[in-house]
Amino acid sequence: MPALTTDSLNKPVTHLKGVGAALAEKLARLRIYTIEDMLFHLPLRYQDRTRITPMGAVRRGDEVVLAGQVSLADVVTGKRRALIVRLQDGTGSITLRFFHFNAAQQKQFRKGVLVRCYGEARPGANGLELYHPEYQLVQTDQPPELADHLTPVYPLTDGLTQNRLRQLISLALSELNKAEVPDWLPAELFPDLPDLKTSLQLLHEPPPDAPVDALSEYRHPSQRRLIMEELIAQQLSLLKLRQEHKHHKAPIFSSGQDLCQQLTDQLPFPLTGAQTRVISEINQDMTQSSPMLRLVQGDVGAGKTLVAAMAALKAVSAGFQVAVMAPTEILAEQHYHSFQQWLAPMGLDVAWLAGKLKGKARQEQLDKIASGCPVSVGTHALFQEQVEFCQLGLVIVDEQHRFGVHQRLSLREKGRQGDTYPHQLIMTATPIPRTLAMSAYADLDTSVIDELPPGRTPIETVALADTRRDQVIDRIAAACHEGKQAYWVCTLIEDSETLQCQAAESTFAELQEKLPGLRIGLVHGRMKAREKAEIMARFKANELQLLVATTVIEVGVDVPNSTLMVIENPERLGLSQLHQLRGRVGRGNQQSYCVLMYHTPLSRNGKARIAVMRDTQDGFVIAEKDLELRGPGEVLGTRQTGLAQMKIADLVRDQYLLDEVNQAAIRLIKHYPQHPEPLIQRWLSGAEQYAQV
Ligand code: ADP
Ligand code: MG
Repeated sequence: MPALTTDSLNKPVTHLKGVGAALAEKLARLRIYTIEDMLFHLPLRYQDRTRITPMGAVRRGDEVVLAGQVSLADVVTGKRRALIVRLQDGTGSITLRFFHFNAAQQKQFRKGVLVRCYGEARPGANGLELYHPEYQLVQTDQPPELADHLTPVYPLTDGLTQNRLRQLISLALSELNKAEVPDWLPAELFPDLPDLKTSLQLLHEPPPDAPVDALSEYRHPSQRRLIMEELIAQQLSLLKLRQEHKHHKAPIFSSGQDLCQQLTDQLPFPLTGAQTRVISEINQDMTQSSPMLRLVQGDVGAGKTLVAAMAALKAVSAGFQVAVMAPTEILAEQHYHSFQQWLAPMGLDVAWLAGKLKGKARQEQLDKIASGCPVSVGTHALFQEQVEFCQLGLVIVDEQHRFGVHQRLSLREKGRQGDTYPHQLIMTATPIPRTLAMSAYADLDTSVIDELPPGRTPIETVALADTRRDQVIDRIAAACHEGKQAYWVCTLIEDSETLQCQAAESTFAELQEKLPGLRIGLVHGRMKAREKAEIMARFKANELQLLVATTVIEVGVDVPNSTLMVIENPERLGLSQLHQLRGRVGRGNQQSYCVLMYHTPLSRNGKARIAVMRDTQDGFVIAEKDLELRGPGEVLGTRQTGLAQMKIADLVRDQYLLDEVNQAAIRLIKHYPQHPEPLIQRWLSGAEQYAQV
């Protein structure tokens, strides 16, 4: 028979003996589709059935194989009827306890019989006990064999037992042994890593003396080998995207600093140092012939809009059009106003497009865009098919931290004209932890606006239990009577917009009743855009003193006179989201407050998260904590499927490897240019295939 190649590992699981459609379906629930997936389905932990532990040496919590002689077997009644069997081995004794048993079982444990058993030792009334251990009676002339390797314990799914899965994986291992598995991480570059085959073999069937501690911390060389490989593959796939992108053509914006200078002169304040630096990084990119793909991170209030405007003017100066896209209508509208305010004095027109704009008004805007309006602001509506730009040179996307790599790609395609791509600038107020920036965003260049405009007063954050709701309401009344404005943000654990709106409606009613002297408004996601805009405008004009809202106000609202924000159930939100919300206050020069009104009792994790919010206002620190407390899946959003569903690596646990991974990816491209592609295939093909794009 010819030697099997890796292709044999790519065969569906049904290729294994005894695996039919029904079993394949169960395996699919574990995201095991091929033999290779099976091999990458690694144990959660291990049991040691390779040796018999003397009873005298067993400590509570140990999972052990014991062997001994029955000294007593009895059915006890009491709190719960049970068969208890006492075993002794000369070094000590231990009790087996069975709550479910039959007469035959009861009879087999005669005094003097030899028993071999496996289970976890727990403290009982008379020393250590094993509840319902696995056991067998021992014939002295034919003692049962001990396992020759540590026993893996795998993640399971309904209808699949450990034993069945172990059998299947051992079949997969024999396929692996027959296969020639190319090593895409050559030993020459990775002298410290064991090869792939050895690693897989070891992890599924570790020898009796394998270091269990290292294994349980995912720091065993064999684990590190696989983790490295997966992270490198991930990195390579992004670097590949980046390289492909860099091969595209883009317009070169060389001429005319004039408009930018004009705007700077017109501003009532100087740019911050960070703004100036980031603007020049952007300008540098846009004078290249390959498209810019730059992510600008800047904390809430850092002044990203102005940076966007400066980039836009650079494009406009060169005779190109700019599209500015925001994820919500409220935010898009705010940008529209900012851009208008800045650009109108220069005689530059700004178009507006949102999904809700219909009929003649829409057509007007479409015509405007098609005939070369320099800047267009809007929501996703800007990238629908009917929208035609005549000279799109720059696309600016705001607040799209949750955009995955595929969304970024599709946006890019939409702006394409012939073989030329527009430059692309992505702005996010959600700082991206270094770990993620290094992994999830390796296809982008990044800039950080790490400085706030001067004169901002830090927000004071307090946490209060919701049992003190009335006190919080009094506080609102007091602030509003001093002429300040306030927000009350309602959140819910369910991801249901309807319920969230209902909660906001009933809070609105309650506050109206309890605060009859105040002018209160309500805004939530189910209101018509026009209604929302009207309420926001009235709040901005200080006609409304208190705004009850759902998290729709998360981004974009800029009302410097509002100095108090109450957030209900903050424990239910991600830290970065809370940080965004909180950033709606503290925008003027007055002392601002944020009251986190949590629901008691608070979980430990909830407490930890609230403490972070109280202790810091640094968006980067908050983002790191968020990642630590909620994991990359939550922080990146479900759309970042590739990263959230890594097979073995864990960005938080394995972040200590990231520097090495990045260097390794670059070395691999340089010295082994044939390797990245199959490596990406090995690790990411499944993810791409099943990812929701
Ligand atoms: P964000 O980064 O959160 O989008 P914005 O762009 O909305 O921040 O800016 C927040 C506020 O700061 C706006 O009112 C803006 O006009 C103001 N601002 C921006 N840059 C500066 C600056 N260099 N000095 C003073 N104020 C600034
Ligand atoms: Mg902004």
